[in-house]
Amino acid sequence: MSKLKEIIELDKKFYMNTFGDRIPVCFEYGKGMTLWDTEGREYIDYLGGIAVSALGHSHPKLVHAIKKQAEKLIHCSNYYYIETQSRLAQMLAENSCMDKVFFANSGAEANEGTIKLARLYFKRKGLPGKTNIITLEKAFHGRTLATTIPDENDSQKTGQSHDSGFVSIPMNDLEKMSRAINDSTCAIMVEPIQGESGVNPASIEYIQGLRKLCDDHGILLIFDEVQSGLGRTGKLFAYQHFGVEPDIMTLAKALGGGFPIGAMCAKDFAASAFEAGDHGSTFGGNPLACSAGLAALDVIINDGLVENSAQRGEYLISQLNNLKEKYPVIRQVRGKGLMVGMELTQNIAKELKDLCFKRGILIGSVEENILRFLPPLIIENKDIDLLINVLDDIFSGLEEI
Ligand SMILES: *Cc1c(COP(=O)(O)O)cnc(C)c1O
Repeated sequence: MSKLKEIIELDKKFYMNTFGDRIPVCFEYGKGMTLWDTEGREYIDYLGGIAVSALGHSHPKLVHAIKKQAEKLIHCSNYYYIETQSRLAQMLAENSCMDKVFFANSGAEANEGTIKLARLYFKRKGLPGKTNIITLEKAFHGRTLATTIPDENDSQKTGQSHDSGFVSIPMNDLEKMSRAINDSTCAIMVEPIQGESGVNPASIEYIQGLRKLCDDHGILLIFDEVQSGLGRTGKLFAYQHFGVEPDIMTLAKALGGGFPIGAMCAKDFAASAFEAGDHGSTFGGNPLACSAGLAALDVIINDGLVENSAQRGEYLISQLNNLKEKYPVIRQVRGKGLMVGMELTQNIAKELKDLCFKRGILIGSVEENILRFLPPLIIENKDIDLLINVLDDIFSGLEEI
């Protein structure tokens, strides 16, 4: 029996069936843009572990930092001061509009923290009735109980009611947003560019309008930059595209370059709502996670990955748009930097993804008609040319059918 077959059998027998039939491959090694599977086959990665592997795979500086820290100290406890934790917090604060940071282990957990912080902020101000958070339809904030509430599909499945302190309204409609705000509203929480629903950017006017609405009503503006942050969109943070600063921002995916770590960042006035004992985490911000974060952030900021994301992203989008000129099945190419979606007129995204996979090209698909590209930020033009050639070939094959 091949190793892959054995792993699939073990998975079917012992792993909960949350992922169904996965793509039949198990990766063993990675280097830069390339992955190798258990059978020795080679793949080029244009999904980057869903926007996580920003540095590419096994980046030497990240590997070195993790190795060195693992040899020194992996974990202690947040009962004690942690050097890499305070240095990573400093680096995030000094490179963003934020003042204070708290580390969690994932995006969802960072978002849970912000929900708590937003409600506590008003409670401490003597306004305990302000607990409602307005989110956007098609939002994705994670898979924990609270973060799935805005996601109708997920929350209905788990039997959660919709009066649990969230309301969802359509994106890019300031009228509706304005009407949704009432005395119980404490915050508006949005992804400036929605990721999981297929790369849907909010308009500049919309985001600026949200800032104004929040200021007018004295409520908090929260940006979920778990996916869009850390260079993904061609700026270090997506809020920088909109000329607007949020009050609270969450990060995760690329923050540890693949090592699990999430962050909740806030301006001083909002962060001060947390007093000793209000929040915590056993693992969050431990020495190993933060040394990975320090190395990843250092490479992203100081090795030109943000600029590369902007430039390669522009090239990728223009090349995908050339394909759109050629193949009417492509409806729209959208995104910023290296957060790119391609909407099709037919529900064949999964088939196209599978055809790419057969040729050793890893891309993503969302909904039934959107292809998604979230490559490592180290991508070069030659990698983009390879992807475009394969897609061109696959699309031209479709035309013949
Ligand atoms: C991936 C993602 C999350 C959830 O992050 P996890 O680490 O999977 O919990 C939350 N928000 C956005 C915008 C995401 O893309």
